[in-house]
Amino acid sequence: MAQVAVRNVVKKYGSLQVIHGVNIDIADGEFVVLVGPSGCGKSTLLRMIAGLERISGGEVDIGGRVVNDVLPKDRDIAMVFQNYALYPHKTVAENMGFPLKLKGRPKDEIAAKVKKAAEILALEKLLDRYPKQLSGGQRQRVAMGRAIVRDPQVFLFDEPLSNLDAKLRVTMRVEIKELHQRLKTTTVYVTHDQIEAMTMADKIVVMRDGHVEQIGAPLDLYDRPANTFVAGFIGSPA
Ligand code: ADP
Ligand code: MG
Repeated sequence: MAQVAVRNVVKKYGSLQVIHGVNIDIADGEFVVLVGPSGCGKSTLLRMIAGLERISGGEVDIGGRVVNDVLPKDRDIAMVFQNYALYPHKTVAENMGFPLKLKGRPKDEIAAKVKKAAEILALEKLLDRYPKQLSGGQRQRVAMGRAIVRDPQVFLFDEPLSNLDAKLRVTMRVEIKELHQRLKTTTVYVTHDQIEAMTMADKIVVMRDGHVEQIGAPLDLYDRPANTFVAGFIGSPA
């Protein structure tokens, strides 16, 4: 059974329909990348999986449960955004532990989970710093740390690397993949960057104008693109 299932999902903003009946099955532990040009509906779809956006039709299922009416905080997910959304007046440790504090977890449990996440992300020496004292890559790792401490069933990433310079993007791609290999958490990762999609995905979902054009492993899409749009976008030879 799919860990995340998107079934005939539709999104309308008033009379404007931006997602047109999308179907995606994501297996337990799979790293799925949603890719497509700006404005094709990637963030909207991710936000519907997160529960941050109401769905206009169809259903989203997480861990075998339809979650259409479940609040984001009651879904077993953690989301990492491109702008990090760290609290400037909290330390790295406080930022990472904040989701657990909100849930009322005991202090010693929070400290232990923050310590473990900090080890995984090489943040041990930075726990007492404030966000403004960190580099872009370090801030991104803190944002990932905040997701990890919750130990969710599903990670959602929305263009997490797009504010970083090219060199750091490559480093962080590798780090995110290593993290996935270590934790095996089901991941849905949004990007408009074909290279990110090709190098990171177990499975790629190519989107265009609110539709899915093709779903497949990176090499399948490259070798057997369903149409000229996919071929052009993935960069297959004509
Ligand atoms: P992507 O993440 O692929 O760049 P989005 O999901 O952000 O695309 O947007 C998909 C489409 O939905 C775009 O045409 C965008 O303008 C539109 N859209 C997104 N959010 C809203 C909103 N709150 N109200 C109206 N239209 C929106
Ligand atoms: Mg977007």
